[in-house]
Amino acid sequence: MAEALFISDLHLCAARPENSRRFLNFLEARAWGIQRLYILGDLFDAYIGDDDRSSPHREIKIALRRLSDGGTAVFFQHGNRDFLVGERFCRETGVSLLDDYAIIDLYGEPVLITHGDLLCTDDLLYQAARRRVRSEEWKRKALSKPLFIRQLYARWYRFKSGVDKRHKPTEIMDANPDAVIEALRRFEVSTLIHGHTHRPAVHELEVDGKPARRLVLAEWDCHGSVLAWKAESGWHRERIE
Ligand code: MN
Repeated sequence: MAEALFISDLHLCAARPENSRRFLNFLEARAWGIQRLYILGDLFDAYIGDDDRSSPHREIKIALRRLSDGGTAVFFQHGNRDFLVGERFCRETGVSLLDDYAIIDLYGEPVLITHGDLLCTDDLLYQAARRRVRSEEWKRKALSKPLFIRQLYARWYRFKSGVDKRHKPTEIMDANPDAVIEALRRFEVSTLIHGHTHRPAVHELEVDGKPARRLVLAEWDCHGSVLAWKAESGWHRERIE
C-alpha cells in the first residue's frame, strides 16, 4: 500500500514490557505490508551498542527484520537516547539509517524529517553535551568499554537526565521557532516532521511569505501514536492500543 508511517519516542526498555509488546504488535498488525516505516529516534530508552543482546532489544531487532523482509522499507534516525544504533543494527534488521536531517519524498511532496533535539537550540547545555558525545572519538571510546560498564553508565545517565529535566524551564526544552524556520529555509521545504519534544501538534508557519507546517509526533506512553501519510489522502494520526 502506498503509505508511510512515522513514529518516534517509544522509549522501549525492559522496565516497561507492555510498551515493547505494543510496538511488536504494531509491527505485526498495523505496519505489516505498508510501503515505508520511519522511526524518528528514541525507539529505545537507552542504547549502549549493537552488541547488547538483552531484552527487549533482541526481540525488536528480530521483528524489524521480519518487517523489512516482508517488503517494507524501514528507516531510522538517531534520537538522543539511541544515537549508538550502528551499522550492525542496520545489517541485522534491514533498516536504513538516515542522517539527522533527511529530505524524503512523500508522494510528490518533499518533507524534512529529524528527531527534533537539534531544534531545541535554547538548551545550550544539552547542545554542548550533544556535540561532545556525537563525535566519532567519543563513540569509539564508549563502545570500546565492556557492556556492563556501558550499562552502568546508561543507568546513571537516565537518572541524571531525569534530575536535569526537573530543573530546566520547560520553554528551553521545546523547539526554538527560529531554528525551525532556519531548517525549513535551508532545506527548501515547507513541511517538517519531528518528535523528541513530546508535544504533539500541528504548527502552521510562514517562511519567507510562504505557508509552512511543522508536524510534531507524540511519545508512546499509555498508548502508541503514529502519523500515517497516504498517497491519495495525505496524513492523519492514529492511536495504537
Ligand atoms: Mn529525544
